Amino acid sequence: MSKSTPQSRKAMRARTKIVYAGRAPEDQFGFVNTPIYRGSTVLFPDVATLESRAGTRFRYGTYGTPTTEALEQAWSEISGAADTVLAPSGLAACCLALLTALSSGDHVLVTDSAYGPTRSFCEAFLTRMGIETTFYDPLVGAGIAALFRPNTRAVLVEAPGSQSFEIQDIPAIAAVAHERNACVIMDNTWATPLFFPAHERGVDLSADAGTKYLSGHSDLLLGLVSANAKWAKKLRQTYQLFSNCAGQEDAWLALRGLRTMDLRLREAEKQGLALARWLESRPEVSRVLHPALESHPGHAIWKRDFLGSTGLFSVILKPASDQAVAAMLDGLELFGLGYSWGGFESLVVPFDCSSYRAASVWAPEGPALRFSVGLEDIEDLQDDLDKGFARLRAQA
Ligand SMILES: *Cc1c(COP(=O)(O)O)cnc(C)c1O
Repeated sequence: MSKSTPQSRKAMRARTKIVYAGRAPEDQFGFVNTPIYRGSTVLFPDVATLESRAGTRFRYGTYGTPTTEALEQAWSEISGAADTVLAPSGLAACCLALLTALSSGDHVLVTDSAYGPTRSFCEAFLTRMGIETTFYDPLVGAGIAALFRPNTRAVLVEAPGSQSFEIQDIPAIAAVAHERNACVIMDNTWATPLFFPAHERGVDLSADAGTKYLSGHSDLLLGLVSANAKWAKKLRQTYQLFSNCAGQEDAWLALRGLRTMDLRLREAEKQGLALARWLESRPEVSRVLHPALESHPGHAIWKRDFLGSTGLFSVILKPASDQAVAAMLDGLELFGLGYSWGGFESLVVPFDCSSYRAASVWAPEGPALRFSVGLEDIEDLQDDLDKGFARLRAQA
């Protein structure tokens, strides 16, 4: 990165930073936003510059353009990170973070609540590279010390857990890992740097699916990995070796999304909590898994470590047949049935973690549903679900 953040802005609050971060109108003829730079070849003024690459900010398209650099700088600034690199998807960002920290012969500890495809990457790919994975109970806390081996080089945390919403004690896990010189990798997609300052909490490499809240519009795939000072160089080296770069249009759309991300997250928090509380009061619902609810077992740690909650949470229904759940979901008019989340539109998906859990038990008392709450009027969403619950009861 050739441009640094002005000292005065480092002290500013997140809401101000996301408005200004990664923008340089003076480089763009005064226009507010950095445009899309499409390109592979970068021309050099003479042989000496080409050979030495001295003073060249950009060398070739895969190493970055002003568009991707703007997003990387902005993300570093709001994350309190030393550097950020982009990836073509959130999963690619998680894989890049793991491959930055791990080598053949190493051992990695991965939370049992990790995003499923990250888990598959460890099992199916890291194994082939001679890297062994142990899944651990997400609630292990400082007890993770007992799982370390002499060759444990990284710990992957994710909070809340994908689908199941356990809150991990990340500062406690990071303290243990750092005593043993292991890298702490986090999937911070749920909270984003705005609601969980990962690097301040002890995370070395933080991966985010920009596909979700950074985009906010269900129209792009993108990943980001930010690193603290200790890991920044290794991250960028690994990134350049893979050359698994993100598209210019996607980086530009993500920059556009970034400017309203704080606003959208605050609304997601409000909408999510309103719907979660309403669901908690429903007779068809057994439990709501939302860490900002007082009833959540991880609420105290969430309150200590997080700065907010977002619009993604799960519920466990009272026992009901698959057919009854399908009748409830199939007739919904506002909630789309589909993967991904963090867009402006509400979604719901049924899920079951029991088939893959290795170090923790997932045995809920009824069917499980994950909700992503969008920007619709909350009463319309409740009316839609109210009719859905009537269909569920009719089949039960
Ligand atoms: C969606 C998601 C990812 C992957 O993002 P993609 O861009 O879809 O690859 C990673 N982690 C979490 C927690 C996610 O929800």
